[in-house]
Amino acid sequence: MLDSSLTRRRFLANAAALATAVVLPRFAFASAPPRMITGEEALHRLMAGNARFASGKLLSPGRTPAHFRPLAAGQNPIATVLGCADSRVPPEILFDQSIGDIFTVRVAGNYANGAGAAVNGSLEYGVEELNVPLVLVLGHTQCGAVKAAIAHLHDDELPAEIKDLVAAVKPAVAESSGTSSDLLINSIRANVKRGVAYLSTVDPILSERVKSGKLKVAGGVYDLATGKVTLLT
Ligand SMILES: [Zn+2]
Repeated sequence: MLDSSLTRRRFLANAAALATAVVLPRFAFASAPPRMITGEEALHRLMAGNARFASGKLLSPGRTPAHFRPLAAGQNPIATVLGCADSRVPPEILFDQSIGDIFTVRVAGNYANGAGAAVNGSLEYGVEELNVPLVLVLGHTQCGAVKAAIAHLHDDELPAEIKDLVAAVKPAVAESSGTSSDLLINSIRANVKRGVAYLSTVDPILSERVKSGKLKVAGGVYDLATGKVTLLT
């Protein structure tokens, strides 16, 4: 049942993409997602888009209603981005991608460990139903959630459920404490790395796809000042 519905969905997505290719301007066609793409290739496309963004040479592909309409028949994103809710970090823009290219999950602090079904289920949906080959955990400089985790590492004084959200980020701060350089950026990086490590092991969907090589889980940090994403290894 799942297989047949998936096959139909992929067919519709392909048909929609073909229609897009016929009616759109040349540069938009060139940026349309390929039908088959590996996680590595998807990451390369995101980083190439970020390089365009950071240098101010945006293509800004697929932003008109004419681009949106064919996608009503189905979506075929090349990547999932787990990013922060911060208003300054919109994935489609900073990676210079079209509507339909990125399946986006955003939560303050871009954390996965302890985020529960709202985050994990969304990521699993992207992988299982949409065959997304890449999950990119994207942190950013000056992240308020990480700053709050640093400020309240040893107390519990934040209000309501903000307290629980920040508590989920605290382990990244704790493991970065004592390092000689900047605690904030180290914690931001550690938070991303924890997300990458965790998501690679979430059973059964994500872990099995990672093991079989069908899914790449990567991490990066977006610099608000430069516009550049740096991948973490
Ligand atoms: Zn943030």
